[in-house]
Parts: sequence; structure tokens; C-alpha cells
Amino acid sequence: MGISPELLLTILGLPNIEIESVSLNSAGELEIRVKSITEGAVCYNCGRRINKPYYPGKEVRLRHLPVCGYPTYILIAPLRYQCEHCDGNQGKRI
Ligand SMILES: [Zn+2]
Repeated sequence: MGISPELLLTILGLPNIEIESVSLNSAGELEIRVKSITEGAVCYNCGRRINKPYYPGKEVRLRHLPVCGYPTYILIAPLRYQCEHCDGNQGKRI
């Protein structure tokens, strides 16, 4: 591709993510798989800091603006956090 991950992140304008892979699929679309590198969250319920990540597992495919003329999609598995202090409510990203 000749595009560095750093340049891609700048182009995409997405904070707190890390690129795992970049590929061109059979339809000629650029697929950029990313993961969140944000650490920790605050519980909605009790307000305590939580660090136990849990992945719902369903990857989301987001349409992005074209990069270098390629139709571009971001693939990301949303990262959530689970509170161990109360009834396992999901945390809020900070
Ligand atoms: Zn809590």
C-alpha cells in the first residue's frame, strides 16, 4: 500500500486506536482493522474506575471517507468494560 500506519491514523482522524491490519478486499475496498487502545473506564452505576475489558465480539464495519481513492471501511470490535464493584454494569468510555 505504501501508506504508513501513522499516516493512516492521521488521515482517519481517529484517536486512541491502533491499526491491526490493512487490506484491500476483492471488491477493491480498503479495510482497516483497528483496536481501541483506551485503557479503563468509569462505571455508569457506581462511578468507580474499572479496568476489566470485555469484548461483545461483534465487529462493526464503518464506512469512512475514501483514502487515496479507495472506498474505505473501518473494522472495529467495540471495547467495553465491566464493573466488578457493582452488578456488572457496563462502563463508559473516558
Ligand atoms: Zn460499578
